[in-house]
Amino acid sequence: MKIIVDRNACIGAASCVAIAMKTFELDMDGKAEVIHVTDKIQTADESSGKATDQNDLRDTIIEAARSCPTNAIQVIEDDGTPIV
Ligand code: SF4
Repeated sequence: MKIIVDRNACIGAASCVAIAMKTFELDMDGKAEVIHVTDKIQTADESSGKATDQNDLRDTIIEAARSCPTNAIQVIEDDGTPIV
C-alpha cells in the first residue's frame, strides 16, 4: 500500500491526522505528511481488530484519506490499483 499526499491540495484541515495519527502529521508548513507506513499494513481481521502501537489499521488509513476535504490523499495498492 502506498500513501501519497498532494501538498498543493492540502489545506491543513487535519482530519486525516485526527483519524490516523500514527500515519499522518502536519509538518511545519501545516501540510500533512506521511510519518509511518510499513510494508505490511494489517486489516482488522489480521490484527483482531486492533491497531498496534506503531501502525494504524488499513481501514483507518483509508477512512482518513476519504475524510480529506480536498481529496489530497491517494491510497494505492502495491500493484497500482487505486483505493482512494
Ligand atoms: S485531511 Fe487533507 S487537507 Fe486536511 S491535513 Fe489531511 S491531507 Fe491536508
